[in-house]
Amino acid sequence: MNTEHTVADLLSFLDKSPTASWAVSAIASKLEKNGFRRLHEKDIWNLSINEKFYIVRSSSAVIAGIRGSQSCGEAGCRIVGAHTDSPGFRVKPEGQRSKDGMITLGVEVYGSPILATWFDRDLSMAGALVFREENLLKRRLFMLRKPVCRIASPAIHLERNLNKDGFKVNPEENTPLLLSTSGSGFQELFALACESAGLREGDVSGWSMEVWDPQPAVTGGIDDDFIFSGRLDNLSMCHAAVEAILRTEETPHTRLITLFNSEEVGSKTLNGANSSFLDSVIERLTGSREEYFRCLSKSIQVSADGAHGVHPNYPGKHDSECRPVLNGGPVIKINAGEKYSSSDISAAYFSLCANAADVNVQYFVSRNDMICGTTIGPVTSTRTGIKSVDVGNAMLSMHSIRETAGTFDQEDMIKAFVEHMMGTVSISD
Ligand SMILES: [Zn+2]
Repeated sequence: MNTEHTVADLLSFLDKSPTASWAVSAIASKLEKNGFRRLHEKDIWNLSINEKFYIVRSSSAVIAGIRGSQSCGEAGCRIVGAHTDSPGFRVKPEGQRSKDGMITLGVEVYGSPILATWFDRDLSMAGALVFREENLLKRRLFMLRKPVCRIASPAIHLERNLNKDGFKVNPEENTPLLLSTSGSGFQELFALACESAGLREGDVSGWSMEVWDPQPAVTGGIDDDFIFSGRLDNLSMCHAAVEAILRTEETPHTRLITLFNSEEVGSKTLNGANSSFLDSVIERLTGSREEYFRCLSKSIQVSADGAHGVHPNYPGKHDSECRPVLNGGPVIKINAGEKYSSSDISAAYFSLCANAADVNVQYFVSRNDMICGTTIGPVTSTRTGIKSVDVGNAMLSMHSIRETAGTFDQEDMIKAFVEHMMGTVSISD
C-alpha cells in the first residue's frame, strides 16, 4: 500500500472512533472483512493452524491474532501492543446545573488532556447506552456529530493576563458544558443519544457519555506533510498494528495485536494492559501451563505509543542531541528509569526490523530535568516476562484536542511492524 492510501485509511478510522469502544468496533469490522473470526472468552476455543481470530473484552479492548504453523510453546508470539483510549472529558451523573441563564452539564476529566485546547471547539458527544435483553444487560454505542455543547473561554477583556500568565483552567469550575439557554439539558441530550442508537428511552437503564471533537481528521501543511486530528495518541498505533497483521504471511510463530483500554489512567482495569486479558489469551492458545511459560519466554512485544517530536517553537524541551523529528521514521524510546520497556537488546531488535523494511529509526530520551511519561510496554512486560521494546511515531501537542503527526511516518511504522511480526530477527534468552 502507498503512503497516500495508508493515510486516507487512518483518517477514516480516526473519524469513526470518537471513543475506545468505537475504535474497537471499527477494528472488529475491518478484521471480520479480512477473515478474522470472533471468539468469546466464555466459549471453548479450538483454533487450527493459520486461523485468524479476535477477542473483544468489555467492548473497548481487542486482541487479534493469526495462529502460527507451530505450537505457541514451540515458536512463541510476535506481538504489537497499543492502547485504544485517549484523554478527554466524561459526563458526570446528575451533572446538570441551571446558572446565569444557561443549562450546563458537569464533566470529569479523563487522563491528562491539555485542558485549554478543549475550549471554544464545536464539541459533540459519543458513548454507550445500556439496555436489557431478557435478563442480559448489553451495551449499544451512540455517536452524535452535531455540536451539542461547548466549553467557552472568558473574553480577554475580562482576563487581561491570559496570554502572559498562560491559560489557567480550574477543571471543576471552568469546564461544565454549555448546553442551552432555552432550558434543554441532559434529558434532551439523552433523547438524542437514544435516537442515534435506535433505542427507546424507556428501555435504557445506564449510559456513559464522552465529549469529542467531530471535526474530521485531515492532512495539512503546504505539501500535506502533517496529519491533524484528535486521538492520534494512540489510535494511529492501533491502526498501524491492525494494518501490519493484515499484511503478514504464514509464520511458524503466532502473530498477535493487543489493543488495551485505560492506558491514560494507569492500565489497571478489566481490559487495561495490567489486566489478565493478554495472559489468559496466551495461556489458552498454548493449552498447558508448561507450554504457556515456554511461549512467554519465546515471545517478543513491540509496544507502540505516541512519541514526542522536537518542536521548532519549543526547542529546549528535548535533549540537545537526541531529537526525533516528524517524518523521520519510527522512534525507539529509551529511559534509564524503565518508564519504557526498551533494553539494549530489544532496541537493537526493533532497529534491525526497521532496517529490514528499509525504514529509518530515531531515538527519544528525556532530559534529566524533565519527567518522562510511560506506556503499556513496561506493564505487560512486567506482568508476563515477555521481552519488549517501546516505540512510537513523533508527534507534537500530545493530548491536545487536535494533535499533529507526520504523514510519512505511518507507513514506515507499519512496514517495521510487519518485519517484526514476520520474525525477521529474534532475541536470545
Ligand atoms: Zn498514548
